[in-house]
Amino acid sequence: MSDFQTIIGLEVHVELLTESKMFCCCSTKFGKQPNTQVCPVCLGLPGALPVVNEKAIELGIKTAVATNCKINQEFIFVRKSYFYPDLPKNFQISQYREPLAVNGYLDVNGKKIGIARIHLEEDTGKLLHDEKTGNWSYIDFNRSGIPLMEIVTKPEISNPEEAEDFLRKLKQILLYIGVSDCIMEEGSLRCDANISIKKATDLQLGTKVEVKNMNSFRSVRRALAFEQERMIEILKKGESIVQETRLWNEQMQVTEGMRTKEEAHDYRYFPEPDLLPFRISPETIKRISLEIGELPDERKKRFQQDYGLSSYDSEVLTAEKSVSDYFETALSYYRQPKQIANMIQTELLGLLKESHTRIEETKVKPEFLARIVEMIDNKIISSTAGKMVLREIFASGMDPETIVREKNLIQISDTQEIETIIQEILSEHSQAVSDYKAGKMQALGFLVGQVMKKSKNKANPTVVKQILEKKLTAMINKTEEK
Ligand SMILES: [Zn+2]
Repeated sequence: MSDFQTIIGLEVHVELLTESKMFCCCSTKFGKQPNTQVCPVCLGLPGALPVVNEKAIELGIKTAVATNCKINQEFIFVRKSYFYPDLPKNFQISQYREPLAVNGYLDVNGKKIGIARIHLEEDTGKLLHDEKTGNWSYIDFNRSGIPLMEIVTKPEISNPEEAEDFLRKLKQILLYIGVSDCIMEEGSLRCDANISIKKATDLQLGTKVEVKNMNSFRSVRRALAFEQERMIEILKKGESIVQETRLWNEQMQVTEGMRTKEEAHDYRYFPEPDLLPFRISPETIKRISLEIGELPDERKKRFQQDYGLSSYDSEVLTAEKSVSDYFETALSYYRQPKQIANMIQTELLGLLKESHTRIEETKVKPEFLARIVEMIDNKIISSTAGKMVLREIFASGMDPETIVREKNLIQISDTQEIETIIQEILSEHSQAVSDYKAGKMQALGFLVGQVMKKSKNKANPTVVKQILEKKLTAMINKTEEK
C-alpha cells in the first residue's frame, strides 16, 4: 500500500432550499405528482426566457463564505450543450470559466482540503424506467430547473475514509447555514468521485477513474475503497488503468465499467444570451456573511470555553445545529452545562435514535429536560427516577412535576423511613449479610440495590449506603464482642 498513493477529488451536487426554481416561479417541493410543477421555462419551450432566482445566488454566496472561498464579484451563466431526454432545451444553464466562487477549503480532521470551485446551475428532469417491461421510460420534469449548486474539491483527498469525513463535514456546514436539506435519499445531495493511483515516487498523477451512483456517504467510502484496491492490483501487474466512468453496484458491492472516455466531452460552453452578467457588491457579501452565524467548529470551541465541556461532549452536541440549539435553550432554564449535556447525551439522544425522531419534534421540551436535571440536583428525585420521568415525557408530553407527583417519585431522604426499609432488607438477606461479614465487599452493593428496589428507586442512594455501612459495621462489632 505504501508504494502507491491515492488521490481523490469529489464533485458534490446540492439542491438549494429555495421555494421556487432557478429560472422560473415553479415550486421545488419534493414528491408531488409528476409534471405538475412545470412551466414553459423549465420545460424548455421555445421563446421562454429565464429569470434568475436571487435567493439561490444568496444561498450560493453563503456556502462560499462558509467554505472559505473567494467570491467572484462578477460572474456569468453559460449554456452547456448536450443531448439527453431529461434535458428538454438540449442545454443546461450552468457556469464554467467564471463560476460563483473559487479557491476555498474545509478543515477536515485538522487537514485543509481545498475546494476548487462552487458553481450554480439548474437540475435536469428525472427519467423513470419501466422495470416491468423494460420497454418504456417516463420523464418527470418537476425536478427540471431546481437550483443546483456544484462543489468541486481539489484532488487533495488521500483515502476513502477522508472522502467520507469530508462529505460529513460539508453536510454539517450546509445544514448549519440552511442552504440545503442534504437528504441523499431524495437526491438533494449527490456525490461523484474521481480517483487516481500513482506510485509514491511518480511526480505525475495517475489515470483518473470516475465513480458514480453512490447513494450514501458509506457507499462513497466503500466504492472508493473497492476502486483503490482494483486499481492497485492492475498497477502491480504492470498493466495500465483505463480512463473511464464506473458505476457503484450497491447490491454487489463492486464498481462496474460504464463507458470509456475517449476524449473530454465537447459541451460547447458559451455565455447564456438571455441572462446579463451578474455583479455582487462587497456590501451584499458582507450582509450575507453576517447572516451565516456560528459554524460548527466555532460553536464547538465556544462550548468548551464557555461551558467547560470536554472536546468529545462538545463534538457530540454540535454535530447537528438543532441539537446544539436545544442544549443552549435548556441551559437558559437551568445553567448547569455538564448535567444538562449529560442528560441529553446519555438519555435523550438515545431515545431519539431508537424512535427515529428528530430533536425538533420531541415532546421533551428543553425546559422540561432542564427542570428534571434541576430536581435531581436538588435531590427532589433520584437520577434513576429522573431518567424515568424523561422517558415518560418522551412518550406522553406531560410536564415533569405532574409525572413526579402522579408516580410518587419524590426521593426519600428521611433517614427514619430509609432505616425501616434497610432493617427489612437485612433480615430478608441474611446470606448477603454473612458474606459481608466474611469480607465480601460486593455484598454491600447488592444490599444497596435491594433497598433501592424496595423503595421503588425513591430512596436517596447516598443516604442508603451510609446507613447500611453503619449498620453492618455495628453488626460485625457486636459479633466480635460475643
Ligand atoms: Zn417552471
